Amino acid sequence: MKLGGRALKIVLGVGIVIFGLIKYYGSQEENPYTGRTQAICLTTEEEIAIGLQNAPIMAEQHGGMHPDQQLQNMVDRVGKKLVDNTIARETPYQYEFHLLRDPKTVNAFALPGGQIFITYALLERLSTEDQLAGILGHEIGHVVGRHSAERIAQSELANTVATGAQVGADAGMLASQLGQTLLLKNGRGDELESDDLGVKFMLEAGYDPEALIEVMQILKEASGGQRVPEFQSSHPDPENRIAKIKEAIEKYRG
Ligand SMILES: [Zn+2]
Repeated sequence: MKLGGRALKIVLGVGIVIFGLIKYYGSQEENPYTGRTQAICLTTEEEIAIGLQNAPIMAEQHGGMHPDQQLQNMVDRVGKKLVDNTIARETPYQYEFHLLRDPKTVNAFALPGGQIFITYALLERLSTEDQLAGILGHEIGHVVGRHSAERIAQSELANTVATGAQVGADAGMLASQLGQTLLLKNGRGDELESDDLGVKFMLEAGYDPEALIEVMQILKEASGGQRVPEFQSSHPDPENRIAKIKEAIEKYRG
């Protein structure tokens, strides 16, 4: 039997998709700090390197570091207290907490490997140290949960599937849209896991976890209809998030 051009393309396309799936499922490992199985294609060293490499670029986009050393020290101190009293201390990551000068963008975010940022625009809306701990605890959760590395592995898979679909059946667009939907959906899961870990870390470090609920309300007000990049764009709706935070408080208070 002679394969026609069309059949050959389909065989090739299926081959590419199978290759991508084998690579993805072959890179599943259990995260020792969260107990969750996830696909990761980066080593912890690579995560740290990516974080360090991108930290100055991220800082640049937010007007650089805030010049007030006292405020900077406060952010450091709260972050360090969270790390020193939780499982974060046992991870290979080097945590660094940065206050960015940006007075307009209400945001906080984490790069893989432990580089964590909060903008001045967000800090100035907070009224207690516990609220700051809520934000930093949530960001430490993204690092410990290895969410960036997991998302990179998933987008590699999505790209491979899209390529396979394009080669095999000219369905590349559809496949890449499905891939995007998958990534967005999992982005929401990241936020819920980080909220959960944030509550745990707050309790272990002696902070009041109810402050994370206050943070959700502050973010909701600050957004005033606009989207807050880290805390709301890829997110489940705030009410649902608050309900989950309450569940986590019950769970970890025991
Ligand atoms: Zn987050």
